[in-house]
Amino acid sequence: DLSKTFVLANKEQLTACDQLSFSVNKGETVGIVGESGSGKSTLVNMLMLMEPPTSGKILYRGKNILQLEHKAIWKLRPAIQMVFQSPMASINPRMKVIDVITEPLFNYKRLQSKDKKAKARELLEMVELSEEYADRYAHQLSGGQCQRVSIARALALQPEILICDEATSALDVSVQKNIVDLLIKLQKQTRMTILFISHDLALVQSFAHKLLVMQRGKIVDCLEEEQSLDTSKVAYTKTLLNSVY
Ligand code: ATP
Ligand code: MG
Repeated sequence: DLSKTFVLANKEQLTACDQLSFSVNKGETVGIVGESGSGKSTLVNMLMLMEPPTSGKILYRGKNILQLEHKAIWKLRPAIQMVFQSPMASINPRMKVIDVITEPLFNYKRLQSKDKKAKARELLEMVELSEEYADRYAHQLSGGQCQRVSIARALALQPEILICDEATSALDVSVQKNIVDLLIKLQKQTRMTILFISHDLALVQSFAHKLLVMQRGKIVDCLEEEQSLDTSKVAYTKTLLNSVY
């Protein structure tokens, strides 16, 4: 029953998310699709505790994380990580890749300086980048390589849940496919749960176990793995599908 209503500058109210209810199982890949402005980012920003909901609950292992104390939230943070649309967004342009990807580990005091290089190598290997990228800066990387670095950073704390908000939308189609393949590989390796937001129905459908379709702040359709989109009885899903092909 998660809702978010924004009060706009002219005092009008805008309900970006309207009583959303869904569950995600451990290890599941869930696609969230819907046109621009349908509330996808607002939803995941609430899950990341970056945006306080107006009402509703977010249950993680049965506990409402909206009621946690600051200290408990700090402890929970590593478990839920996010990759953003703009490949540059989570990369400080003044930091070398090695520092970008290991920084979360230092923040959480899980790494000693002497082990930094080895850890960076391990993380780069996970995202299929060679060691030589460790000493580069963001501007010395392609968009796809930047996004791999963002993923490596998100993986540093071994999250249980990885949220990708349009993580491939800014990339070339062939690179999108590479990043999705990488996420699928990582999901199999680590068994992490992935929430993947995208405009691209065909892309999401190719790998998501579950698909949520959003329209004007509501979840209007929920499809399970074995169900293909074109069998949906929801008219809006069909409209979305038709606008893609
Ligand atoms: P896109 O596919 O373009 O990223 P989205 O589905 O992620 O869209 P949201 O960013 O969640 O959509 O926005 C949902 C609605 O909430 C939009 O109408 C947007 O203008 C509004 N909105 C989002 N954030 C705010 C905010 N901080 N203040 C006011 N309105 C907001
Ligand atoms: Mg968005």
